[in-house]
Amino acid sequence: MEAQNVVISKKGMLWYKTGHAWIYRDDLLKTASARSGDIVDVLDERGKFLGKAFYGEKSKISLRILTREKEVVDRQFFKQRIEKAIARRGERATGRNAARLIFSEGDSLPGLIVDKYAEWIVLQALIPGIESRLGEIADIIVVLLSPRGIVLRNDANARTLEGLPLEKKILRGEKPDLVEITEGEIRYLVDVWSGHKTGAYLDQAENRCSVARHAYGSVLDCFAYQGHFSLHCSSKAESVTAIESSNDSIAMLEKNITLNARANITPIAGNAFDLLRAYHKEKRGFDMIILDPPPLARKRAHADDALRGYKEINLRAMHLLNPGGTLATFSCSHSISRDLFTEIVRIAAADARCGFRVVRELCQASDHPILLNIPETSYLKGLILQKI
Ligand code: SAH
Repeated sequence: MEAQNVVISKKGMLWYKTGHAWIYRDDLLKTASARSGDIVDVLDERGKFLGKAFYGEKSKISLRILTREKEVVDRQFFKQRIEKAIARRGERATGRNAARLIFSEGDSLPGLIVDKYAEWIVLQALIPGIESRLGEIADIIVVLLSPRGIVLRNDANARTLEGLPLEKKILRGEKPDLVEITEGEIRYLVDVWSGHKTGAYLDQAENRCSVARHAYGSVLDCFAYQGHFSLHCSSKAESVTAIESSNDSIAMLEKNITLNARANITPIAGNAFDLLRAYHKEKRGFDMIILDPPPLARKRAHADDALRGYKEINLRAMHLLNPGGTLATFSCSHSISRDLFTEIVRIAAADARCGFRVVRELCQASDHPILLNIPETSYLKGLILQKI
């Protein structure tokens, strides 16, 4: 079939030259009869070939560049990209049997998420170009990894921006029960069918180990989900208090406590904002506090509320920290930059009248690769701070 040509404007061209992989709708001059999911040739105003891209009719991001070469984009092309992404990882290097194998643009496969949980694979298609090739991609994964099953978690809200429906199904093999994962010293259970994201927050895996190295005395893990930070810290701490608002997550956290035989973790079902305030009133103190909230700003328009939220929890945690104590604080909001996040934490410290030493700056795990020229691939920011 003849490839469709999509022509981009001079402004789009300048953007393209920055090395970014997205072209926005405003920068398209001609789309011919391209349809969502098509692979199109991208041309400049004079008709010069720039690359090949996935086209999407609904999204503001109309083109996602696949290659800047005049090469054939077929099953072999996708197979090679998938093989390369997998080769960049490796179980032995990470000490865990769960990993993100493909991180969308970060692995030059825009719109595709592939996570491995032991012998299972979870797939997510975020754009029509991947959606229409899911069968082909599942076949490639079966050949390369022989999983016991492939679960399709197409329930990410980002799909609605692309005009795609939300659904979950088993693509290949069996439906898993709970999958047991090893992550360094700890083990935890994952429900890949209904857990958050594709089952767990794999992006925090390396940070959990880094943070746990500083654990001692009394630890407070706010926004604990199924207790992964708590479990890592519990072997070094005397006691861990894990706050989580969702009862389902607390139930799994309890299972994980039993699995690891960690009697010093106390799960508390509740709102971290309220509990931080209550602990302050009760004049409680902690030697380490972990703040890993959900994205408080899902949209740029909510940024102000989010800033207030981040400042509040950080300020309260700073008051609750014993002298010499450690604060591990994170933000996974795409719309809040690292500089802005650091600024909020700095303002909180000034208000709390506390000095802090920056022990470490953290980012997402290395199996969520960040591309220098696609700043959106970087979203998780963290600081380990020691109260002076
Ligand atoms: N630290 C976890 C991931 C945390 S995700 C890990 O490494 O696996 C954020 C968690 O905060 C979610 O489980 C969500 O249910 C919970 N949450 C959201 N709002 C909350 C609130 N106000 N108080 C307590 N927990 C909350």
